[in-house]
Order: sequence, then C-alpha cells, then structure tokens
Amino acid sequence: MSYAKVLCVGLLGVTGHVVEVEADLAPGLPAVVISGLPDTALHEARDRVRAAVVNSGQRWPNRRITLNLLPATMPKFGSAFDLAIAVALLGGSGELPLLPLERVVVLGELGLDGTVRPVRGVLPMVAAAARAGLERVIVPVDNAAEAAVVPGVRVRAVDTLHRLVEFVRDGTPLIEPPAPAPTEGPGGPDLAEVAGQALGRRALEVAAAGGHHLALFGPPGAGKTMLAERLPSILPELDDDAALEVTALHSVAGLLPAGGRLLRRPPFQAPHHTATVASLVGGGSGLARPGAVSLAHRGVLFLDEAPEFGRGALEALRQPLEHGRVQLARSRGGTEYPARTQLVLAANPCPCARPAGDTYCECSPLARRRYLGRLSGPLLDRIDVQVTLPPLRAAELMEATATGEPSAAVAARVAAARRAAADRWAGDGWRVNAEVPGHRLRHPPWRLPERDTRELRGRLDSGSLSARGFDRVVRMAWTIADLDGRDRPQADDVREAIQLRMGDAA
Ligand SMILES: [Zn+2]
Repeated sequence: MSYAKVLCVGLLGVTGHVVEVEADLAPGLPAVVISGLPDTALHEARDRVRAAVVNSGQRWPNRRITLNLLPATMPKFGSAFDLAIAVALLGGSGELPLLPLERVVVLGELGLDGTVRPVRGVLPMVAAAARAGLERVIVPVDNAAEAAVVPGVRVRAVDTLHRLVEFVRDGTPLIEPPAPAPTEGPGGPDLAEVAGQALGRRALEVAAAGGHHLALFGPPGAGKTMLAERLPSILPELDDDAALEVTALHSVAGLLPAGGRLLRRPPFQAPHHTATVASLVGGGSGLARPGAVSLAHRGVLFLDEAPEFGRGALEALRQPLEHGRVQLARSRGGTEYPARTQLVLAANPCPCARPAGDTYCECSPLARRRYLGRLSGPLLDRIDVQVTLPPLRAAELMEATATGEPSAAVAARVAAARRAAADRWAGDGWRVNAEVPGHRLRHPPWRLPERDTRELRGRLDSGSLSARGFDRVVRMAWTIADLDGRDRPQADDVREAIQLRMGDAA
C-alpha cells in the first residue's frame, strides 16, 4: 500500500474544520511535496516531521512523497498538522497499519526529537471534530485537559510520536486526560468593597443592564478603576454557547488557565495604554492571535487613561466595536474573530491628572478640551453612559468600613432587567437595549409621549444635546425602566438618563 489518510482539524478564525491529510508514496527521486495551500509553518513541517520520524526510530521512506491537505481551498495555518502528517506517511509507506486511526482526529506539533508539543486552539479543534460526528481525538498531553472539556468526545493524549506508533502497531494504551478541574474559583472583586460613589454605582448598573458602553470621567482617586473592574461581577454568567466561544478564543490565544474548564464568567481585559494595535485587535504570523478586544468578547474591555492611548490604537478599535468582530487581513485570506464586547473607558479630566480645583492644576480650558477631544471621534460617539465622578470626599472614606451593596444583589436586578429587554426585542433579535437602533425608539409603538420627553427635546432644540445623544438618552431611559420594573420609561427615567449622559465632558 502506498496511500494513507489521517484526519486533523484546521482553524479559520475560531472555527475548526476537519482536514484530511493524505500521503501518497511513489517510486522515484526521494522528495516531499506538500499541497493544499500550506503556509510557511507547513513547509517547515516537512523538516520537523522528517527529523521526528527518524529520531523516533522509524525508517524514513526514500520515495517520492506527496502530502495533500484537503479541502485544498481552505487556508491552513499553524503546526497542529505535524503529527497527522507523520503517521499518514508512515501509513503510506506500509510501516504502520492505520486501521486504529480510522475516524480518529490526530492533533499535535512535533519537536525534532519526536516529542509532541502543545498547540494553540485545541478546544475549538476538538469541538469541530465533535460537530463532524467524530468521537475520538488524540491530542498533545499538555492540551489533554483542555480537549476533555468538549462533551461527547473521547480524548487520549500522547507525549511522543513513538508512543503513538506503539499504540497503532501494538495497541499500547495512550495517556488518559486528567480529571476535569472543579468549576471556577472565587470570583473577581466585589462591589461591596466600593464605599459611596452612588452615581458611579448607578452608572455601572445601568450599563450592565442595557449592555451600554460606559465612560467614567473624574479625578484620580475617584474610584473609576475600582468600579470598572467590578462590572463583570454584575453581568450574567455566560450560557453554554457563549462559554464555549469565549473559551475557544482564549484557547487560540494560548491563554487558557491550566486544568481545563469552560470560562463561565464574562472576561475582563484591561490593556495598557502603550499596547500595540496588534495586541489590541489581534495579529501575528501563522495562526493569528486574538487581541484584547476579542479576548474581551462577551465581557468587558477596559481602557484606563483612555486619552493616553495612541490615535492609531483608538482608530483600530472602531471597526470591532461597531461590527462585533475583528477582520485581520492575512496574506492568504482573512481571519475573523468575534469581538462583541462592552467598552468601559476611564479618563482624567486633564492631562496633568491632578485633583480638580486643586491649586496645582494649571491646565487651561483649551488643554483640557484637547485632552478629552482625543477620544471623541473614534470612541466617545458610541458610548451611551458618560458620567463624571466627583472626587471621593473624606466623609465617604471615613464611612468606608460600611460596605456597599454586594455584587450579587445588583446582578439579580441586572438579570431581571435584561430578561425584560430580551423579551421585548425577541422578535427583532436584539438582546439588550444598547443594540436597538435609535430610529426604532423614535417611532410608534415605542415612541415616548411628549409629556415625558419635554426636557429632552428642549436640550435638543437648544443644541446642548445632539440628535445622537437624544437617541442614547432614550435608550438608557428604557434600561432604567427595565431595572425598576416598569413597562415603559416615564419622565423621571428620562431625567435620570439625561444625568447619566451629562458627564459629556468633551
Ligand atoms: Zn490639569
């Protein structure tokens, strides 16, 4: 026999697709030809596989070897095909009867010495195998726990090519994956630790309930970061689909915690203002790494000291925030990662970052406007809730022993409000109020009666609020009504929404 076939999985973005690795060995000048749109890493695979096969004590077939990866039209990135290529060509040479690998997916990178190395993205790869009705997978031992998270698949692991060869030849058992890790440990920081800050807490709750982006302005020490870090603690846990999606993104980034379990909490990402565009939106050669905006998918992306981020970085975030996904241009086809995230940005009112009213701040009004103006184009336009937090007063600090309302209590209100909104918009496919287009709320049956929007229309007429700002206030009013259990917003809800908008410092 001079032909063999082994199953593997390739990734397009965060979605796996089953790939057939075919090996054909023909008489002729010894050579290895790989076809099926391989990237550079696959060409390097040729050398790695040869060294690994020889160093595992197997004979390298001195024939003309053709390797074909199907479907040929699918671009293939990364090194997860090594192990499948090695066994396919040993099968094709007649060295190894491949019957035990029938309908088995084989994943792994090979070291020159024949060790099997972990690869990024094993979780979505195994999930793809399960979707294709393939029930058995063989993965690198360091990825075994992660692979075992996918239900309905029997996972076995290998540490060396030699072990896999022994298994195929003699049925020597493979390595069992470790028992699944217990569910997530203690959660992140809790709102109970935040004293005072009634406005900030309310802004956070409204943002969570309506899925609104949030901007927190205020002097250093006003508690902006403390509040932002606690947003995930009041968001609903991820459902099964979302958990799998979020865990898969962290798997592709190679950032899953050891032990292997689904990420159930909304993720929190806080890139530093010196972060590169690639680390924010993703990139890199081979299998592209998701950036912070994708690692924050279904969670929170926090930009602290937002005006300090480079203009290029802020611009790069515009498209993902608008479309809920990132498109990375690649040399061969694009890669797309989901990026449906809730943005929280924090900013000091001026570049010197000294307390407001403090005699030390000598920033001119122009300097202050310019500083926050850096945000206005790309980001601020998309942010519903914009509040300016007052400096924390000494009295509030003294009361700090008295704890605030804990996250669990706030999360219960947020969950109820989200259910109300999801029911209302179910026919339109929107999950939260932030997704509802403004024109929808300006027309029947959702238009609010004139008596409830008088102040709002006054602000629009006087020019103190833009048309877009008008829509944002109405959207927030719906969220406030949902939080307080009312069918429709009333004048008071609109008034509170205006307050949650008036931190419009820019
Ligand atoms: Zn200043």
